[in-house]
Amino acid sequence: MRLELPTLQNWSCHNCGGCCRQHEIEITAEERTRILAQPWTRDEGVDPARLVEEIPGSAGRRWRLCHQPDGACVFLDDRGLCRMHARFGELSKPLPCRLYPYTFHPGPNAPRVGLRFSCPSVVSNRGTALAEQRGTLTQLALEVVPRGVPNVGAPELSPGRPLDWAQLDLIVSLLGRLLGETDRPVVLRLLWCLGWLGLLEQSPTTGIKDFARSLGELARGVRAELPQLRREAPLPPSAMARRLFRMTVAQYSRKDTFQAEHRSWRYRWRLFRSIWRFTSGRGLTPVLQEGFAPVPFADLETSYGPLTPEMDERLTRYLQVKVESLHFCGRAYYGAPVIEGFASLAVAVATIWYLSRWLARGAGRSQWELEDLERAIAVVDHHHGFSPALGLASFRSRQRWLWSQREVTRLVLWYGR
Ligand code: SF4
Repeated sequence: MRLELPTLQNWSCHNCGGCCRQHEIEITAEERTRILAQPWTRDEGVDPARLVEEIPGSAGRRWRLCHQPDGACVFLDDRGLCRMHARFGELSKPLPCRLYPYTFHPGPNAPRVGLRFSCPSVVSNRGTALAEQRGTLTQLALEVVPRGVPNVGAPELSPGRPLDWAQLDLIVSLLGRLLGETDRPVVLRLLWCLGWLGLLEQSPTTGIKDFARSLGELARGVRAELPQLRREAPLPPSAMARRLFRMTVAQYSRKDTFQAEHRSWRYRWRLFRSIWRFTSGRGLTPVLQEGFAPVPFADLETSYGPLTPEMDERLTRYLQVKVESLHFCGRAYYGAPVIEGFASLAVAVATIWYLSRWLARGAGRSQWELEDLERAIAVVDHHHGFSPALGLASFRSRQRWLWSQREVTRLVLWYGR
């Protein structure tokens, strides 16, 4: 199987154990049988009576690995290592454990490989270049990519405006080229992409003789209009846009994957009240996951910048990997058309800046640092393209409204400073 890999990404596991704490690991019937047959004893730190359990509400049809009281997988040891891997080898583990943090998406010529930035090693680009892992990735792809995926249709540009794969490939290449001009700040490059997609939305895509040339001319026009970031303070987003944006932030800052308490009514009530406070934007920020302290909402509206070169690099690579792997539209992103998907990605970046501010302020600083941004990227990408809540009609209509009112650009300018 041919695969297309992101050009700029390394990854190896550094045994932080984070993925083994924050995910529910669903297993197949065959994996369940295999794991139950493994001869575990309590002396090895694993209770043989608590290896796998039924997923609540699935009536015995779906299964998952059990968790320790602190949320870690039953097979995770104190050093952050997998006992199953250590004792029976990598292939003994369930498929999700072998797959993480890779993702595979339908692409123009071959499946495209992406990565989950919820893994800190992906965020900081540590490990072996993906190009050197082609063999392992191909093996994984053979297990997870359904046959016939190359025949899946390309995402639309916007509702009712179909694209073929060749056109999508051109659009994605141009987005990659704009994002790749790294002698300019990432905020400016993101604005170029948004401006260019805005023009594309108003231009015809059918009956054009030279589609590639027409795309290139639009991109040159946007770059010429906005050669550098203006120095004056940007206009803030409207009150309504900020209210909707904070609701988006609330969604991204949740962490309620699997723990039993997250299914209780008490938790849901607390969540509801937290979202209400995010909506009002008054008082202190409600804490929805570890590491975020309550801070005044008002303190998150001032400037925390500028971005250091390292922070710029992290965000640039995040955007490039998401774009190259098509992890922002179509089947890889809730079936969203290209423009809606890229606008959502830009809002996710604004959310990363918002959470970076929150982390900095919670640590008593008024300037953000690299560690704030890296943590914020991991928090946001835990959900982006994966959480079912982000695919709901209510969430998507919020993002569409922000785009239609040109508020996405304002959010990027306001929170990226
Ligand atoms: S089985 Fe191993 S790799 Fe999978 S979640 Fe558990 S500890 Fe992590």
